[in-house]
Amino acid sequence: MTTARTVLVTGGNRGIGFAIAEEFLAQGHRVAVTSRSGHGPAGCVTVRADVTDAASIDAAFTEIEAIYGPVEVVVANAGITRDTLLMRMSEDDFTSVVDTNLSGAFRVVKRASKGMLKARFGRIVLISSVVGLYGSAGQVNYSASKSGLIGLARSVTRELGARGITANVVAPGFIETDMTAALPEAQQAEYQRSIPAGRFATPSEVARVVTWLAGDDAAYISGAVIPVDGGLGMGH
Ligand code: NDP
Repeated sequence: MTTARTVLVTGGNRGIGFAIAEEFLAQGHRVAVTSRSGHGPAGCVTVRADVTDAASIDAAFTEIEAIYGPVEVVVANAGITRDTLLMRMSEDDFTSVVDTNLSGAFRVVKRASKGMLKARFGRIVLISSVVGLYGSAGQVNYSASKSGLIGLARSVTRELGARGITANVVAPGFIETDMTAALPEAQQAEYQRSIPAGRFATPSEVARVVTWLAGDDAAYISGAVIPVDGGLGMGH
């Protein structure tokens, strides 16, 4: 049994974030999720927040701290795609994806680090993607935002590692959620053929890796990229 912690998951109202919140709850932690719409799983606190807005993130943390005390584990999961080929990608397609996926994680981690530094304890987990390292035609914006998270986690590890804070990246492959259901069937079939495991994953298969990284057993792991991709990236 790992120590019970106060956990915040961004984008916890559906998909991978919802499953991560469920898994933390099942393991006995105090869980809050941020959401722009809808709610996290039963038993967690849901607060409204948009990761593109630092004031909204700050207000969400303040609300959670008033209920549960300082956030000890933060999972930056909120993310979007705006896929199109480079030649067609607008400035806004690029910057909006980077603003949500990368700058959003920066805002959340920065706000979380205040309480973590005081407590001399923290677990930071950033949800990247196999395509952050593998590249992906039609996802220049998304891939760039997801590889940026690795530099973020590794630099945080160097800055805060001596204060009991770890920062790691989880890089999922193809997970069954709304995000991937939106892809054309032919593209889904092509992905499936290239995955050594021969199947897609469920959100809970990602969630269990995230809870492990946040737990007592992973205290000496920091700056790592953990693939959860059925072998697609070959461990990168
Ligand atoms: P979904 O599209 O199902 O959910 C995305 C979540 O992010 C929603 O909760 C959404 O909230 C939230 N979100 C998006 N923009 C913002 C914002 N500006 N502020 C706050 N919340 C926001 O995605 P998945 O569950 O599939 O993906 C979760 C994470 O995992 C993402 O970072 C994604 O890139 C990553 N990932 C997913 C893979 C997959 O195969 N599905 C593979 C690799 C990585 P709302 O409902 O309000 O829009």
